[in-house]
Amino acid sequence: MREAELTCNSCKKRVVLNEMKYSKDGAGLICSECYDKEFHGGVSLRQKHEMTNIPAPVENKKKVQFVCKHCAFRYSRALDFRGPKLCPNCGRDSVVYNLPNKAEDLLRELDEMDDI
Ligand SMILES: [Zn+2]
Ligand SMILES: [Zn+2]
Repeated sequence: MREAELTCNSCKKRVVLNEMKYSKDGAGLICSECYDKEFHGGVSLRQKHEMTNIPAPVENKKKVQFVCKHCAFRYSRALDFRGPKLCPNCGRDSVVYNLPNKAEDLLRELDEMDDI
């Protein structure tokens, strides 16, 4: 089913009904784009969003230990590291998480690593 479209009373574009808003000056239904312009005095909502969307400072990342199955080289990376997990020692794709058996041990280990 197609969504109902109406003509914006301000820019005359065809806009889907659920993006229409009532103009404050009583002109009738206008599109959200025109509504934002009217509301924010020329600054579109998107620009405003970008200005306030400054990335937060990088927190101290939790680290987790990896071990290479090939050469047994151990190293640690940030827990949410998403890059290629290649062994820094032999360069092979044979690295696995070196996780302790118990979750408690893992948490303790992560805390200890923070102090380094
Ligand atoms: Zn419009
Ligand atoms: Zn290796």
